[in-house]
Amino acid sequence: MAGNAQCLFCRIASGEIPAKKVHEDADVVAFHDINPQAPTHVLVIPRKHIPMLNDLTDADAATIGTTIVRASEIARELRLHEDGYRLVVNNGEGAGQTVFHIHVHVLGGRGFRWPPG
Ligand code: AMP
Ligand code: ZN
Repeated sequence: MAGNAQCLFCRIASGEIPAKKVHEDADVVAFHDINPQAPTHVLVIPRKHIPMLNDLTDADAATIGTTIVRASEIARELRLHEDGYRLVVNNGEGAGQTVFHIHVHVLGGRGFRWPPG
């Protein structure tokens, strides 16, 4: 799975840059977000370098499917599944995307009811 030498998350996936990894396998890597927005905040990334949702094609269906399935398994391992958790994928700078290697945020440990209130 060719990594992109300029990409932060490819470098984390390869182990070149350290991260607090919670899971890794042939397809995905998961690690704690460095700036957590919830008591539990994990990022799940495919090893394959796909910049953003805009780039997806049918050829990526298995990669993205596996990433979401792994996110759900990690949420269960972290005991988030009973109280509830949120998966977020930001697409583009206007949505707050800052790292252009597609990733799923797993957020848990606090309430996420929508609309709030
Ligand atoms: P996004 O804003 O959706 O692109 O999410 C990027 C996320 O990556 C942010 O929540 C950052 O806090 C997180 N992040 C940036 N650099 C690192 C890093 N070196 N290790 C872990 N998380 C990071
Ligand atoms: Zn990458």
